[in-house]
Amino acid sequence: MSRPRPAVPPDTTRSLERTIRGRITTDAVAIAPFGHDASHVTGRPVAVVAPTDPDDVVELVRWARRTHVPLVARGGGTSLDGESVPADGSVVVDFSGWSHLLEVDPDGLWARVEPGIVNRDLQRALLPHRLFFPPNPGSWTASTVGGNVGTNASGMRSFRYGPTRAWVREVEAVLGTGSRVHLGSRVAKRSVGPDLLQLFVGSEGTLGIATEVTVRLAPVPAVRHGVIVPVPRNASLGPLVVGLTRVPDSGLSAVEYLDRGSAAALAEGRKARWPRDSSLLLLEVEAGGPDEAERRISRLRGALAKMGAADGFAVFEDADELWTLRGACGDVLIERYGQHVREDVAVPLARVDALVAELERIARKERVPFFLFAHLGEGSLHPNYAVDPATSAANRIRAATLHAARSLGGTISAEHGVGRVKRSFLTEELGVSAVELLWAVKRACDPDGILNPGKLYPTLARPTRRPSRSPLGWEGGRVRTGSPNAGRSPFPLRSPPGGGRRRRAARP
Ligand SMILES: Cc1cc2nc3c(=O)[nH]c(=O)nc-3n(C[C@H](O)[C@H](O)[C@H](O)COP(=O)(O)OP(=O)(O)OC[C@H]3O[C@@H](n4cnc5c(N)ncnc54)[C@H](O)[C@@H]3O)c2cc1C
Repeated sequence: MSRPRPAVPPDTTRSLERTIRGRITTDAVAIAPFGHDASHVTGRPVAVVAPTDPDDVVELVRWARRTHVPLVARGGGTSLDGESVPADGSVVVDFSGWSHLLEVDPDGLWARVEPGIVNRDLQRALLPHRLFFPPNPGSWTASTVGGNVGTNASGMRSFRYGPTRAWVREVEAVLGTGSRVHLGSRVAKRSVGPDLLQLFVGSEGTLGIATEVTVRLAPVPAVRHGVIVPVPRNASLGPLVVGLTRVPDSGLSAVEYLDRGSAAALAEGRKARWPRDSSLLLLEVEAGGPDEAERRISRLRGALAKMGAADGFAVFEDADELWTLRGACGDVLIERYGQHVREDVAVPLARVDALVAELERIARKERVPFFLFAHLGEGSLHPNYAVDPATSAANRIRAATLHAARSLGGTISAEHGVGRVKRSFLTEELGVSAVELLWAVKRACDPDGILNPGKLYPTLARPTRRPSRSPLGWEGGRVRTGSPNAGRSPFPLRSPPGGGRRRRAARP
């Protein structure tokens, strides 16, 4: 039986309308897509707002502090652990209209952007400068820079370039106190105490709301080739990757892995032109020109041949097409099996094979089909178990998977974040004292607990010093079935910065 939608009392809605200049919608149909992200959990927001400018965000936060209505910043809504799923009764802050590239400094290698700019749109806008923003998650066609910062997203090329954390120079944000802060600096080196910017990256919208981001850029390599290599049956993955990483001057920027089932699912579901009967390594090789690319590729081929893994080695000219295909792997499995358990763990390379064996054992024990794709070069694995993620079997599988990664010296989240789904596992990884420290940071930035409650921070057995008035302990919400499509904004695009700032927009 579906529960009634929580409603903001009419006087609260009216006070919201009086407070911000941006648009507000409470229409049930328009706000429904904002109740979920790409995970299986859902929430029931009471309104979606599109602030006009940073001052509007300040007013919105002040309003939320007065009324104790939670706010959830939202980019593309592609999170996989409920990071952007609102707690029941929240107001979603929709940044999809904040999608402008504000400034590029090609010599300083930085760009200033609005947080709602979609990753791929930023890459396209940077191309004329022969520059790019290296984090390229599989969701790059829909996820935003604000969301990438919120989850510290990585991508296929983070083998070479690292996660979003390494590519953010500055963030302008409104904290949960209502204060505006400027975090970070445009300079390449800085030593002025602990790095507050890095506290913000990966904070899942729980400390502040980013209104502007300055990202670091890299020159686009002259040549980028994809390479596909079938992995011989029974080959050990760890030594294979270590062997690849030791090839001198290889230009390797991505070392990805698809197990046999995932490769076959993509060949069928997305017409990928690769073998269906083998697990695959997908590589990217960068070079300054065609000759260097050829030399590098032949060096890699030689190294793989020595490891008995060069049969079927093939060059795939368009590396981005390869990554778009690889990014669709999760979706193809959803098309086939519906929502299922999709995990995101990492271990040191020396432990990869032990972890894979343990994951397969878990799947066998629970008698569920198992698929694995991975950012293998970093020991970052995405095990997929074809089981309804809301069942008790799913809970057992998730717990066993996270525990296996931890017990092999790894982490419960390599790149997707903690969100709602994994917050109860965080203490196992960080320890009680570190979680208390995390809560102290949270309380300093968001004393009333109005920013994205119910995410990231686990409930501690011993009470935290000051109980919050917000629903921070919120664990509820229903389970969603069907497509994980991200919510679409009920608002048309925001006008470019500077245009129509002080105008009150019409209600949608
Ligand atoms: C098909 C698919 C492939 C994926 N592949 C990858 C991958 O390869 N690597 C990877 O790391 N992830 C991947 N993801 C997960 C997801 O896309 C990333 O976590 C991404 O960074 C989320 O961006 P978003 O714009 O959708 O953010 P949202 O889901 O909207 O939000 C993510 C978090 O950031 C916060 N946030 C958003 N905007 C702001 C803001 N302005 N200020 C403060 N906080 C904000 C939100 O509150 C939330 O906590 C994938 C997801 C899908 C569906």
